[in-house]
Amino acid sequence: MAGKYRNLIIILSDQLDINSPVFEDFDKNQDIIWMAETQEEATRYWNHKLKIVYFFSAMRHFRDELKEKGYRVFYHELSSAKSNDRGEDLEAVLKKDIHMRHPDKLVVTQPGDFAIQERLTKLAKEEDLSLDILTDSHFYDTIESFNDFQDSKKGYLLETYYRHLRKRHGILLTSGDEPEGGDWNFDKENRESFNQAPSDIKAPISFRPDDITEEVIQMVRKRFDDHPGSLDHFDLPVSRKEALRLLNDFIEHRLKAFGKYQDAMWTGKPFLYHSRISAALNLKLLNPREVVEKAEDAYHEGDAPINSVEGFIRQIIGWREFIRGVYWREMPGYAKMNHLGAQHDVPSFFWDGDTDMECIHQSMQGVVGHAYAHHIQRLMVLGLFSLLYGTHPRKFHEWHVAMYADAHEWVSLPNALGMSQYGDGGIVGTKPYTASANYINKMSNYCKNCRYSPNQKTGEDACPFNALYWDFLDRHHDKLNDNRRMNFQMKNLEKKDDQEMKEIRSRARKLKKDWSNG
Ligand code: SF4
Repeated sequence: MAGKYRNLIIILSDQLDINSPVFEDFDKNQDIIWMAETQEEATRYWNHKLKIVYFFSAMRHFRDELKEKGYRVFYHELSSAKSNDRGEDLEAVLKKDIHMRHPDKLVVTQPGDFAIQERLTKLAKEEDLSLDILTDSHFYDTIESFNDFQDSKKGYLLETYYRHLRKRHGILLTSGDEPEGGDWNFDKENRESFNQAPSDIKAPISFRPDDITEEVIQMVRKRFDDHPGSLDHFDLPVSRKEALRLLNDFIEHRLKAFGKYQDAMWTGKPFLYHSRISAALNLKLLNPREVVEKAEDAYHEGDAPINSVEGFIRQIIGWREFIRGVYWREMPGYAKMNHLGAQHDVPSFFWDGDTDMECIHQSMQGVVGHAYAHHIQRLMVLGLFSLLYGTHPRKFHEWHVAMYADAHEWVSLPNALGMSQYGDGGIVGTKPYTASANYINKMSNYCKNCRYSPNQKTGEDACPFNALYWDFLDRHHDKLNDNRRMNFQMKNLEKKDDQEMKEIRSRARKLKKDWSNG
């Protein structure tokens, strides 16, 4: 029957907010909400089991919240048996419902991923339906406004854009519109390491799986058992209520020391002073405005120092907004970039953490157990290793999306392919993030418990990062030599004599051969 419903509102897996603009004009008598768990959602990237549970459980909780509030929701659950739904993709499931419900129009919040937006647009055309794509209110900036800002600039620079957003939205400004604390950026005060084991950190709240989550866990155990990661520690917030509790817990207990130890790492401590809210934030269980407001309030009330509050807010309104803008401005070509011509697959221990390199083993404990690593483990351990090893940046990105609960394509391409692997040749970062074992040794206690020596460059006991680091600079000498920010490292490379370089190259070759043989 044509025109049975007015609008079919598509809610994607990462759009779980009842205050989203798609609900503003919602008429409960004429409109319906459509949500679907699909095989494709779990397998487009070879997703961590915990991530699959997280997405589907949060969706089911949101569906129930909507139903309680009187919304009519058509929801497709994946069942434990594949034969029940034959692994259909988003279009297949949606088309069936369009043919059954005959909506006049499709409405969706702008998808995070470029490809999903293209696919929905194509589907609407094929079905001869109009599709309203509404602005995503879970960002301070719009894509149009980011483009306007960027059009007047020569290149991308996070700091300029960050200050622009701070000024425009009046964030952490004095009454005279100056930055609070007398500076825009306290990055230099975000780099302390621990002298001894940190003992007074209150761990983030852990949320026990309820019946809905348990049901999804059983489904994922049966259906996606060959996927990576563990389900033994599922404890993420699956509803807005829980996400708010996690945010408040961070503001109260960990924000204060967050800034100082933002870059530090320690054995057996995956979360330290980090908030762990990113997964909930990117499913839109939280809005960045409330996150920033709470952090700013903590500063004004004297509960947290400026280096912590500014460092935290910089991640939200600086980095998160910036990379989203870059993603939409540079897609679709961005996903194909490989500036350094890297060709390796991610090594096998990136899936299970089974390696004698202690820094990687420790970082992977969080990834395998919680689908989480904090930003320095991501950038300066796992990302650094992958860069030096020569992993293809798109493969690293695919691994990154698969293994982190907070990673979506728009998050991961600029972060993983760009910032971490320098695959974009300097669009996001002005130089590759390279370092030897020295950095990891300075910022953690990992090297003390490692079978390798951080001080040796060659030989069986030498830290693999060292040979890989010099080998990386050597291999990419021509591409990096003109980069002003690489001057210091390239000068040091040039001081190495032929014999030392020969040993370094040989050690790097042997290590890579061993890893690529699994
Ligand atoms: Fe990592 Fe090397 Fe330190 Fe071992 S010695 S923990 S491999 S940086």
